[in-house]
Amino acid sequence: MTTFNLPYQNPISSDKKVLYKNARIVDPQSNYDKIGNLLTIGDKIADFGENVEDSNAKIIDCKGNVLAPGLIDIQVHFRDPGQTHKEDLHSGSKSAVVGGITTVVCQPNTSPTLDSVLTFDYLRLKAQETAYCNVKAYGCITKGMKGEELADMHSLKSAGAVGFTDDGLPVMNANVMRRAFEYSKNLDVVIAQHAEDLNLTNKGCINEGKTSLELGVRGIPNISESVIVERDIAILESVGGRYHLLHVSTSEALDAIKRAKEKGLNLTVEVSPHHFTLNDEQVLKSGTNAKMNPPLRSEKDRLALIEGLRNGIIDAIATDHAPHDLSSKNKTLEEASFGIVGVETMLPLSLLLYHNKVLNLTELLAKMTCNAAKIINFDGGVIKKGARADLVLIDLNHEWVINSQNFYSKSKNSPFDGFKVKGRAIRTVVAGKTVYEI
Ligand SMILES: [Zn+2]
Repeated sequence: MTTFNLPYQNPISSDKKVLYKNARIVDPQSNYDKIGNLLTIGDKIADFGENVEDSNAKIIDCKGNVLAPGLIDIQVHFRDPGQTHKEDLHSGSKSAVVGGITTVVCQPNTSPTLDSVLTFDYLRLKAQETAYCNVKAYGCITKGMKGEELADMHSLKSAGAVGFTDDGLPVMNANVMRRAFEYSKNLDVVIAQHAEDLNLTNKGCINEGKTSLELGVRGIPNISESVIVERDIAILESVGGRYHLLHVSTSEALDAIKRAKEKGLNLTVEVSPHHFTLNDEQVLKSGTNAKMNPPLRSEKDRLALIEGLRNGIIDAIATDHAPHDLSSKNKTLEEASFGIVGVETMLPLSLLLYHNKVLNLTELLAKMTCNAAKIINFDGGVIKKGARADLVLIDLNHEWVINSQNFYSKSKNSPFDGFKVKGRAIRTVVAGKTVYEI
C-alpha cells in the first residue's frame, strides 16, 4: 500500500529512533558502499555501519536495497505562486518524493516572480505546511526577470535564495550579467544561467536540424546556447564569482565548459534526463510532449552529454520539471508551451546509465546528491553521523513501464509514456520521517 506523510506539519519527535537494517548503504561523497544498518534519532543520522544496533529503535528491514542520501533536484518549476492549476508545492513535492527526491530547488519564474522577500516568505511558510520534501529556491537575477535592473540579491539571500537565475529567460545584457557576477563573488552564491541567445533562437520551437526541416517548423540552433555560455565564461573570467549552467543541451556548450574548467574557473553544469535519454527525433513520436527549452538535440549532442556525464565534466543531473495543463500542450508545435514533467522519472531514467555501465552507482548518485548540494551551498546530500536524515531506499532492479496518467503531479506532459525502465524509490525519508512508502 502506498502511504504519504508530511514531514514538517507533524515532525518526528527528537528522541524517536529508527533502525534501517540490512541495507546496502551508499554514500557518494565518501565513496562508501557496504551492507549494514543505519540508525536515525529524530531528524538526524546517529550512526551507520556493519554492527550498528539499537534495541529501542523501530526496525525497518531494507532487504538489501540501496539506502542513499535523498536525491536533490536543483531545477524544478512548481508553478507556485501563480499557476497552481498546473502544479503547487503540495502536488509537486508529492511527485518529487515518489521519485526519491528529498530536496528541490524551485525556479523563480513564478507569478509574482521570486524577486522579493515577501514571495520567499510565502514559499517558506507554504512549504512548511504543505510540502512533502525540503523546498528551496533561486531568487531572480533581475527584477521581474526583465533582464534590466538587478534584484536585491543581498536581501534575497538572507530570505533564503540559494543562488540566482532568470531561468526561462536568459540575461541578454552582458553588463547586467557582469554586475550579477560581482554580487555572486561577494555573496558566495551561484549565478545560474538558462543559456539562450534570443536573437539566434528567433522564435524556433524545436532543435534546428533534420526533424525541424521535415516538420517545416523553425529550429533553435546549437549556437543559441553556446554563444551565451562562451560570453558568460568570459565575464566570469574577468570578474570572478561562481557560474552554473542550467540544463546543458549541446556539445559546443559542453566543450566551452570543459575548457573553462581546465583553466580552473569556478563553474558547474547540470544536464536533464531527457537530454541524455532522447534526441530530437522523439518530437515525431511525442509531438508537443517532446517540446522543451532547450530542445532535444541531435544524437551527436546526446552522446556528447553521456560522455560528459562519464568523464565528470557534468556535475549534476536536474529535471527542469515543467508541468503544463492539457490546454497548454494541445496546440501546434509552434504554439504549445515549452517543458515536460520530470521529478517522477529522474531516478529510473538516470539509473539506465548505471544499468548500461556508463557510471557506477556512487558516481551516478553523486550527481543527484552531494554534487548538487555543493552548487547551492546546501549541507545535505550525504550520509554521515550528525547529518540530516534525508534518505531514499532504492530498488535497483524493479522493472516497470512509465505511465504518465499515474503521476502524482497535477500535469501529465511527458514524452516517456510507455518507456521501459529499471529501478525506483520504494521509501523516501525527509527529516527522519518516512514521507513516501510503497
Ligand atoms: Zn531553463
